[in-house]
Amino acid sequence: MHCPFCGANDTKVIDSRLVAEGDQVRRRRECVSCKERYTTFEVAELLMPRVIKRDESREPFNEDKLRAGLHRALEKRPVSTEQVEAAFSQIKRSLQSAGEREISARMIGEKVMEQLRGLDDVAYVRFASVYRSFQDLNEFRAELDRLEKEDDVPPDSAGASGNKNA
Ligand SMILES: [Zn+2]
Repeated sequence: MHCPFCGANDTKVIDSRLVAEGDQVRRRRECVSCKERYTTFEVAELLMPRVIKRDESREPFNEDKLRAGLHRALEKRPVSTEQVEAAFSQIKRSLQSAGEREISARMIGEKVMEQLRGLDDVAYVRFASVYRSFQDLNEFRAELDRLEKEDDVPPDSAGASGNKNA
């Protein structure tokens, strides 16, 4: 960075230490030109990006909305609260680590689908059908077929529930 005293663009770090319980780095710098010393602090930017909606309007990221969306998709599904929370954190973290100031609602939706696919197929299809608002029934069926193939479970491996040899 430029020296705040003379504007020279070469400074050297003469001391560097962690402060604020390790959440910040404090650097003591010296200007190579004028020899003035000054301090800089480095902090990770962990603000959530703003959300760009479909109509291009912007709104603050809303955690409650994301969590509610996950819970709605997973309603009455055999998935524990811890798993939902883990998925929630995973989505948040990946949005933060993208380092963007703004992120499209579509991108958030894709991340949600990614997590749901790993958790529960029914929840995934529920969410995807609302979110992607499949254009027609064929598109929706194609997605279901794809899921069934991925599961790759041979028929009749589920046991004797369908057995009529009574
Ligand atoms: Zn200087």
